[in-house]
Amino acid sequence: AKERGRNNYQFFHQAMNQRAVERQLIESNLRRALEQSEFTLHYQPKVDLQNHRITGVEALLRWMHPEWGLVQPERFIAIAEECGLIVPIGRWVLREACLQIVRWREASIPGVSIAVNVSAVEFRQRDFFDHALAILEETGADPACLQLELTETVLMRDVATSADLLARFKALGVKIAVDDFGTGYSSLSYLSQFPIDVLKIDQSFVRAIDGEAGKNGAIVGAVIDMGRNLHQRVIAEGVEDEEQLAFLKAHECNEAQGYLFSRPVDAALMQAMFGTGIAA
Ligand code: C2E
Ligand code: CA
Ligand code: CA
Ligand code: CA
Repeated sequence: AKERGRNNYQFFHQAMNQRAVERQLIESNLRRALEQSEFTLHYQPKVDLQNHRITGVEALLRWMHPEWGLVQPERFIAIAEECGLIVPIGRWVLREACLQIVRWREASIPGVSIAVNVSAVEFRQRDFFDHALAILEETGADPACLQLELTETVLMRDVATSADLLARFKALGVKIAVDDFGTGYSSLSYLSQFPIDVLKIDQSFVRAIDGEAGKNGAIVGAVIDMGRNLHQRVIAEGVEDEEQLAFLKAHECNEAQGYLFSRPVDAALMQAMFGTGIAA
């Protein structure tokens, strides 16, 4: 028994060690990635369900590692948050999105709005607003074309501070979206206190839409109704098939985003999609 305990301990120790090593490896590579500009943004269209027109895009971070190839956010965002690198990375993302807003305006694509994901660590930085404002001014991007995606958990952490920050962004004309709606803190009362423009229904609910009788279908329907009553636009995330689309249309969901229309693509491909005006 003693022998086995020892093996377990060794196995555990080894696994922990491996994780720590992997972490360390990603962290040091992230530092280099920032200096060597190995990041890029991909864009995924959001589609108006009344006319199938593209209303805007979500910017999604990609890391092009010289040896590892394309690294998905799941592998590095959490680590970047823990070591604080998400702050300079997030500033890079915001600046790049603002530059892209200007590029698309110069390419005469009218009023493309870009949604940017903001992590809890970024949002809690004291100078988050000042930095965002400086980036908007420096790039000349129209604040009305910028949308910030924040999760419920981030917003609820410190309600007073969140309300104050959101009000300042609203005054600039920046739009606010609640990301992954339904998965976080489920107090709905704050929704009417915060100046929220958009609710993004989390893809876990959308994935499980299975007709009117389904529980998740009922949740999606309820969120759509609530958004309508609060005068917020409701976007369904992760829409992959026609059945989901039909359900969302029947419930008069405003917009949808997902592989059914397009995967996230690079800026050039996204621009080509604007040319056709219609996704899928
Ligand atoms: P998210 O904000 O919920 O973004 C949506 C994710 O769902 C994206 O994954 C997108 O590619 C994926 N997706 C879109 N449509 C479909 C679909 O039809 N089916 C399925 N299965 N997936 C779909 P991605 O790009 O890997 O990003 C994962 C997460 O990483 C994001 O989740 C977001 O939380 C985070 N993230 C991405 N970019 C940034 C960034 O610039 N800053 C920060 N802080 N976080 C980011
Ligand atoms: Ca998002
Ligand atoms: Ca989401
Ligand atoms: Ca998510």
